[in-house]
Amino acid sequence: MTGPAGRPEELAAATMADRRAQLEDGLSELDCGHCGGVVRVKKNSLAHTSIQWTADAVRRCPAYAIRDGCPHLRRSVDSAVADGWLEVPEDPLEIPRGRLVHPSG
Ligand SMILES: [Zn+2]
Repeated sequence: MTGPAGRPEELAAATMADRRAQLEDGLSELDCGHCGGVVRVKKNSLAHTSIQWTADAVRRCPAYAIRDGCPHLRRSVDSAVADGWLEVPEDPLEIPRGRLVHPSG
């Protein structure tokens, strides 16, 4: 892949579009059942949730500043997973070691 480099502004636009696609890919909008603030969430694994706060949610949700996050929001995430519309990818690092053992005999 050789060729003339694009103009800087074209490169910047492409990078931004790329990054936006990455951010939007896999992020689902979810509203806190308590305060109604909308955040964008993505499950990286069962235990790990990425939450992207929108300005609106920060303003609405009094729990934004709490270290553990909004408990209502956490419940919303859990029920979204339980309902099956929030996908949880399998984390290859968390596969139990037993599965990797070769069968003997
Ligand atoms: Zn909230």
